[in-house]
Amino acid sequence: MGKKILVALAGNPNSGKTTIFNNLTGMKQHVGNYPGVTVERKEGYCIHKGIEMRIVDLPGAYSLSAYSVEEAVARNFLVNEKPDVVVSIIDSSNLERNLYLAVQLMEFGAPLVMAFNMSDEAKARGYQFDLEKLSGAFFAPIVETVGHKQQGMDALLDAIVSVAEKERNPRTRAVVNYGREIEEEISNVVEALKSEAPPGGYPYDLRWLAVTLLEQDKEIEKEITTSGVKDRVSQGIARLQKFFGESPSTEIASRRYGLISGACQEAVRSTVERRHTTSDKIDNFLTNRILGLPIFLVMMYLVFMLTFRLGEPPMGWIESFFAFSAEKISALWPAGSESAVKSLLIDGIINGVGGVIVFLPNIFLLFLAIAFLEDSGYMARAAFIMDRIMHKIGLHGKSFMPMLIGFGCSIPAIMATRSLENRRDRLTTMMVIPLMSCGARLPIYSLIIPAFFPQAWQAPMLWLIYSIGIILAVITAKILRMTILKGESVPLVMELPPYRMPTFKSVLLHMWERGWLYLRKAGTVILGISILLWAMTSYPGLPEDHLQRFEQQRNAVTAENITQEQKNERIASIDNSQAEAAIEYSIMGRIGRGIEPLLKPMGFDWRIGTALIGGLAAKEVVVSQLGIVYSVGEADEESESLRNKLIRNYSPLIGFAIMLFTLISAPCMATFAVTWKESGSIRWALLQFGGLTALAYLITVVVFQTGRLMGVGL
Ligand code: GDP
Ligand code: MG
Repeated sequence: MGKKILVALAGNPNSGKTTIFNNLTGMKQHVGNYPGVTVERKEGYCIHKGIEMRIVDLPGAYSLSAYSVEEAVARNFLVNEKPDVVVSIIDSSNLERNLYLAVQLMEFGAPLVMAFNMSDEAKARGYQFDLEKLSGAFFAPIVETVGHKQQGMDALLDAIVSVAEKERNPRTRAVVNYGREIEEEISNVVEALKSEAPPGGYPYDLRWLAVTLLEQDKEIEKEITTSGVKDRVSQGIARLQKFFGESPSTEIASRRYGLISGACQEAVRSTVERRHTTSDKIDNFLTNRILGLPIFLVMMYLVFMLTFRLGEPPMGWIESFFAFSAEKISALWPAGSESAVKSLLIDGIINGVGGVIVFLPNIFLLFLAIAFLEDSGYMARAAFIMDRIMHKIGLHGKSFMPMLIGFGCSIPAIMATRSLENRRDRLTTMMVIPLMSCGARLPIYSLIIPAFFPQAWQAPMLWLIYSIGIILAVITAKILRMTILKGESVPLVMELPPYRMPTFKSVLLHMWERGWLYLRKAGTVILGISILLWAMTSYPGLPEDHLQRFEQQRNAVTAENITQEQKNERIASIDNSQAEAAIEYSIMGRIGRGIEPLLKPMGFDWRIGTALIGGLAAKEVVVSQLGIVYSVGEADEESESLRNKLIRNYSPLIGFAIMLFTLISAPCMATFAVTWKESGSIRWALLQFGGLTALAYLITVVVFQTGRLMGVGL
């Protein structure tokens, strides 16, 4: 039947390779030596379903790292002969140790079938395997076999044939995720390899080659002659060595064991007592079925407490610093003078950028805590604990942390989705994060809720708004997973690294890395938008004849025969009217007026419209912009007078609609920028921006119109 395939049996010594080899080939075998070494080479033939197979029993190996002659022979065979299928023979009664070679075979890119041999032994020891989960985790079909009883041989042959016949698609994700630092070096080396590839390319999977070079594999090193790659590799090794305080190969190996131990924790049940390492003992407590969730919630509560408590004093300092700068800058101009430069510096730049930088202590502290939890190994467990709940809503255990951070700020939350290796899970999480009501929306609620709702309703109202966000996030995630982000759900395999005390340096480094990103990305975007918004509310200024009219009114008041106090009051009111007229006349005011017909169905007027546009820069701006259009000098959430004006102009229903719209609608520009960068495409950012705004519009219109028809909150 024409087709002839090459099948290699690989496995640890004593895993039963030769037994299975004999089962498959019977008498049709031939024993020789591998050239140059006294390692036995056994080869045989077998026909299954019309497909002829040449089967080779490779020498026993614990890894592909070529530490022994046997390992070198096995690896060279894979490299030079490129078997069509590699059967990884695993002693399943000693699964974790045997899987190490299997993981390396997968990384190498071998078309793999796994034989869980000695399954009789495994059963006797009380192990139960979730084969489907393990097979998904390791990208290979698994067949249970009992070699010396010839059990499972047909199923094994079937699996070999199906792998041989399957089209070889490049894998969608890496087998092992080596963590941020190592992954970065891997991509650097891969880039270097790509740009300096020999004619015809390398005979290896580039990722495997990069990892192996970082492991300082002597054999593979010899094959690299180009200096660019060599330099890249040694730089990477030096950096990792410094970072981990040990050779990268040790860290790489421990990551592989992390994947294996995570997979086994998930997919292997034992009816008898298993290993008892320190990590296991800690896990008995921290990931306990009953205590796990409460412990996790307490941990998170502590993190948020610390973040905000410790963050308060430095936030105060930053605020005073900006207030002080504003005062000093303002003093450069004579009192009462109107200067565009002064207004730009103070109203535009200091207020806009200051409003963002104020959150920096929180962000740094939050990242410090997260870096600590991550490096200590707890975060992987937390995801493990949350996974069952998150799966119900179509998300991943690892989505939980980013969504939680989203209640603080969407920007670090979106950055935190990096821990999700699966792109679909990551994008889904990223898309719904803005629905977690962020800290910048709180000032809006704090302004509106006390204005429109009686004391007893205030807490439930806040709770309701947050809950609406969460419920919408769950629904949106489900919809995304069923439509544009549809795809088979990747079985959850967590890497469970051993617990260890994080080093001071690495925790600080992680914190700084992300904090700096926030400062740079958000800072530049916010600066630009603040200036733009300032210009839009400042220009064009009122024409001369309008200004004169206000001036005349003021002069008339001065000339009147009333007390100075009354005069001041009248003049202040004229100033207010002038400021309001100026805003209505500005670009922002005109845009607000222009979109008013669109806003009407939600119950909003042009003033609210300009505030919502301001909210695009940062949600806090909604409050200050409302203050500006209502010409209240000091507009912050505490200001009574702004509240009174809102009460006079709007109904509780409109107040609720404002909160609803700001909760759901487009996130701020900084979030847009971060989503763009982190998703790698502006399309996702546009989808998030447009999709959420459309959703907000729809829901707010429905709520407002229904409320109006039913006469609620008018
Ligand atoms: P190799 O060194 O990897 O080639 O392993 P062998 O084929 O020599 O097998 C090692 C020993 O394990 C032999 O005594 C086999 O009879 C035994 N063996 C092979 N498969 C099984 C199995 O599935 N269950 C049990 N209990 N023993 C097996
Ligand atoms: Mg053997």
